[in-house]
Order: sequence, then structure tokens, then C-alpha cells
Amino acid sequence: MRKCIYCNSEITDDRSMQICDRCGVGVWGKKQWENIKKTTDEARDKGDLNFNSPDKDSINQRPKIIA
Ligand SMILES: [Zn+2]
Repeated sequence: MRKCIYCNSEITDDRSMQICDRCGVGVWGKKQWENIKKTTDEARDKGDLNFNSPDKDSINQRPKIIA
């Protein structure tokens, strides 16, 4: 089972990003997160090996989790 790299919750679908929706929306905002998921899934489907390497500034940003 894959887990979110931020909060360790389980990711049940087969997205290419290893980040759950709650954290993804917290970091990037809903609209941008949906776009990132779509882009990375398309890249994976095309066989692009760089799909799981978003820019470092974004990945190092702490998610703002709304409890
Ligand atoms: Zn998470």
C-alpha cells in the first residue's frame, strides 16, 4: 500500500503522485492540485520517468492541513 509522503495516510487509487488529496490541496490549492495529478498521470502513461519529480520548492513546502 502506498502512503502519502506528507501525512502517511493511505493512497487507494493509482495516481502517480504519492500525495493524498488533502495534502495536495493544502500545498497547491484545489485547482493546481487537480492539474498536477492530471499532468503527472499523463506523463506516467507516456512513460516519462520524470513524472514524480515536481520542483523542489513545491515538494519541500509544508502542507497547510485543515483539520
Ligand atoms: Zn497526506
